[in-house]
Amino acid sequence: MNTLKSFIREVPDFPKEGIVFYDVSTLFQQPEGFRQALDAMEKYVRSIEATKIVAIESRGFIFGAALADRMNLPLVPARKPGKLPFETIAEEYALEYGTDKLEMHVDAVEKGERVVIVDDLIATGGTLVAVCALVERLGGVVAGISAVIALTFLPFAEKLSKYDVNYLIAYDTE
Ligand code: AMP
Repeated sequence: MNTLKSFIREVPDFPKEGIVFYDVSTLFQQPEGFRQALDAMEKYVRSIEATKIVAIESRGFIFGAALADRMNLPLVPARKPGKLPFETIAEEYALEYGTDKLEMHVDAVEKGERVVIVDDLIATGGTLVAVCALVERLGGVVAGISAVIALTFLPFAEKLSKYDVNYLIAYDTE
């Protein structure tokens, strides 16, 4: 069996010089790899007894949707600003230059609901901190965070120390 890492394409200097982009499109193109990732994510989501999936735009949608279908769990998108049609709440987070924002519908999570947040990759953890805050503002409980890749040379663990974080592949050097 191929290792999960072998399905990920590493693209140097994208989107700018000095950044290595970890491209999961090559994982999606190989059903064996996609299935391997989903099997591991499913196992984790079962272990934390989550009852709802919150998926982060946009690559998180792909993993989140596949998991929601195979696990028969409700799926909620956390979206870039201006995309959701109903009443929303928003959280801003810092990027290297400037800020970005994610939104969720106000009725997307119920009080006390156990949520797993799904994305493709954890870098600084800023995106996930914002989505955890959205879930908590709606009264939900962040049961855990499920990602395929983590850049463990970045200090996301500190930022996310309150939460249970699971990832399948670690890159420990830039
Ligand atoms: P962060 O908020 O710094 O943890 O960034 C995580 C988000 O940015 C995820 O939604 C990733 O898809 C994306 N991202 C950040 N760095 C990379 C990278 N080196 N390769 C691929 N995606 C990345």
